Amino acid sequence: MGIDQLPHLELTREIARRFNFLYKPVFPEPQPLMTEFPKIPGTDGRKMSKSYNNAIYLADTKEEVWEKLRTMVTDPKRIKRTDPGDPEVCPVFSLHRVYSSPDIIQQVDAGCRTAGIGCIECKKWLNSALLQRLEPIWERRSQLINNSSMVKGVVEAGAKRAREVTSAVLEEVKDAVGL
Ligand code: SF4
Repeated sequence: MGIDQLPHLELTREIARRFNFLYKPVFPEPQPLMTEFPKIPGTDGRKMSKSYNNAIYLADTKEEVWEKLRTMVTDPKRIKRTDPGDPEVCPVFSLHRVYSSPDIIQQVDAGCRTAGIGCIECKKWLNSALLQRLEPIWERRSQLINNSSMVKGVVEAGAKRAREVTSAVLEEVKDAVGL
C-alpha cells in the first residue's frame, strides 16, 4: 500500500476495534504493509493523484508519457543547463529511484550535481526506463481489451472466491450481534 492509504486503514482498524469491543472479537486489526516505494511523486512534484491531474496512466500512449515527463517539474534552483542541481529535491529523480537501474541512478545523481547532464537528457533516460516497464503492460492490456470474455471470467472467479470468504465472516458477524 501507499502512504496515502494509511488514514483509510486507520479507519478500518478503528471499526474493527469498536466492533470487537461492543460484540465479540471477530475482526483482526489490519496492519499496514507498505510497498517498497510508498509515495510516488506526480509530474508537478506533489503526490501522484488523478485529482491533481499529475499522474501518468497505464492507458497513456508513448507520446503522452513523454510529454508528461518532458514538462515535469525539476529542481527549481536548476535554472540554466550549467547550474548544478540537487536530485534530492527533484521529482524526476524520485521516479528514477523507482524505475531506473542502479547504474543510471548513480549517473543521474552525479551528472545532476555537477551539471554534467541536462534535465532533458535525464528525462529521456527516465522515459526509456518507464517504457521498458510500460510496454509489456500495454501489450497485455490490448490483449485483454480484445478478449472481454476472459476478463469477465476472471471477475466472476474473483467474485465467487470473495463470496466464499465473506459469507463465512458474515455468519460470524450475525452470530456476534445476535441476528
Ligand atoms: S538533471 Fe535530472 S535529477 Fe537533476 S534536476 Fe534535472 S531532471 Fe532533476
